[in-house]
Amino acid sequence: MIDLHCHSNLSDGLLSPELLLDKALAHKVAVLALTDHDTIIGLTHLHQYALNKPIKIINGIELSARWKNHDIHILGLNFNLKNDLLIELIDQQTLSRINRAQAIAAKIEQLGIVDVFEKAKKIAGHSRIGRVHFAQVIMQEKNLTDKQQAFKCYLGRGKPAYVPTQWASVDAIVTAINMAGGQAVIAHPLKYKLTQTKLEQLILAFKQAGGIGFEVVSGEMTLAQVQQAAKLCLHFDLLASTGSDYHGDGLSRVAVGRQRSLPLGCTPIWQHWEF
Ligand code: AMP
Ligand code: MN
Ligand code: MN
Ligand code: MN
Repeated sequence: MIDLHCHSNLSDGLLSPELLLDKALAHKVAVLALTDHDTIIGLTHLHQYALNKPIKIINGIELSARWKNHDIHILGLNFNLKNDLLIELIDQQTLSRINRAQAIAAKIEQLGIVDVFEKAKKIAGHSRIGRVHFAQVIMQEKNLTDKQQAFKCYLGRGKPAYVPTQWASVDAIVTAINMAGGQAVIAHPLKYKLTQTKLEQLILAFKQAGGIGFEVVSGEMTLAQVQQAAKLCLHFDLLASTGSDYHGDGLSRVAVGRQRSLPLGCTPIWQHWEF
């Protein structure tokens, strides 16, 4: 089994990279890419822990991009960790994330909750602060039991605590991944609720920037969605990627390595990788 999309507690996942790897091994994952949001910190831990274990670790990251007022996620896979351009881009994203967190906190305070930034920071701990942590603050304060509800009513696009963020452009992200010798992949393409025309525009912009990959299989996709994504992947002559997008038990319905299989006919992005 190959899983090229999952999260550790260095971003918004629940498990440490080590515990994530143990779970991946138990699920017979042979090739694993950790793709935390806008950070590569977990990869060093993971490489070290994977030594002498029957699993191949692929460097990965899930970068947030701003495209035409939409937040799009681009996966970087199999890149060199020491590339200056990529490191600089990640540093910029970290700053954008912190600035956005302060803006989100201010918006949530307008809803009558106090000390929001401090509360979210405490929940995040060593993790990169993100909307998931603010969702937990809102859940505690508004007595919600469902995280989806916190996104739907407060944190989602166009909702009272939504902050449009100056993430890097698709072009800058794809360029940095390519310069670092990696491959760029449009993550969970059907999750952005784009019209068919818009989605095709995004794919063309991504390809123009030098992107080559399309995530045909993601954890929460139905079979019909996988088939739809496979069709787009073939139509636009892209290489197919697959990943669970596992964040932890209770957060994700599909565990690491347990996503659907890649439809026949798709060319896997790992076709020329050395395992
Ligand atoms: P951020 O990178 O801080 O903008 O957070 C994005 C993350 O929030 C996603 O990767 C998911 O883990 C989570 N997320 C986004 N939308 C939802 C939702 N509707 N329900 C639950 N979690 C969500
Ligand atoms: Mn996430
Ligand atoms: Mn994502
Ligand atoms: Mn993800």
